Amino acid sequence: MDVPAFEATFDKDSKVYKVFAVLRDRQWHCRGCEYAHVATTQIAGGAGIQGLQRGTKSRPGMSISSGDHYCPECDATTRHDRWTGHFAEAVPTGSMPRDFARRVVSLLGSRDVVEQTERPANQLTVDHKLPGIRWSPAEGAVQTDYAGMNDDDIRARFQLLKQSNGSVSHNLLKSRACERCFRDGRRGTPFGIVFFHDGGPDWAPEDKRDAAGCVGCGWYDFAEWRDQLNEHLQERSNG
Ligand SMILES: [Zn+2]
Ligand SMILES: [Zn+2]
Repeated sequence: MDVPAFEATFDKDSKVYKVFAVLRDRQWHCRGCEYAHVATTQIAGGAGIQGLQRGTKSRPGMSISSGDHYCPECDATTRHDRWTGHFAEAVPTGSMPRDFARRVVSLLGSRDVVEQTERPANQLTVDHKLPGIRWSPAEGAVQTDYAGMNDDDIRARFQLLKQSNGSVSHNLLKSRACERCFRDGRRGTPFGIVFFHDGGPDWAPEDKRDAAGCVGCGWYDFAEWRDQLNEHLQERSNG
């Protein structure tokens, strides 16, 4: 796809188009001062840089690099982004059918995996263990093949997180951690607990969409992580 064809896929009044218009020249751009006209506080998010990276059904994703650079305008080192000039395959974002969500809750039991307490279904979020920002196109197809999953697939791919109205919910903590990890390569530490049962504090794979990079992080599979942490503590106390 060339740039004019790519540009034609946007609604020109959208925030995401305004972000694209900043990045299209393939130069570094400062998040601190170059997007004031976009009028968003979420420049990194789905209506901004992440949205451009993911693409949509009608356009591919943009390959964007990010880094900390000195901005003379801000007179500070700030987060900058630069379009590499390349496109990447779009990651599908199929939304989960209601009856599938009900099936997951009845299969996994209506308990939130973090606090291990019973909750009504409307306070639980069916969480893809592998966060959507880490899906390759092939992985996205697997993760959203809701009709084709058997019970083992569901146990392998999903967990139930607390979704409370108002107060901070675990699914929100997780998505913030995963976005930060995607951006900076620093993996999540749920509740400040620095433990990884596979890998270390840094995202390891070369490919940002290699699912293996998430394994070992507490937000990926909380129940497994807790088991492994307990095992680790047990070993230590046994000397
Ligand atoms: Zn700046
Ligand atoms: Zn992660």
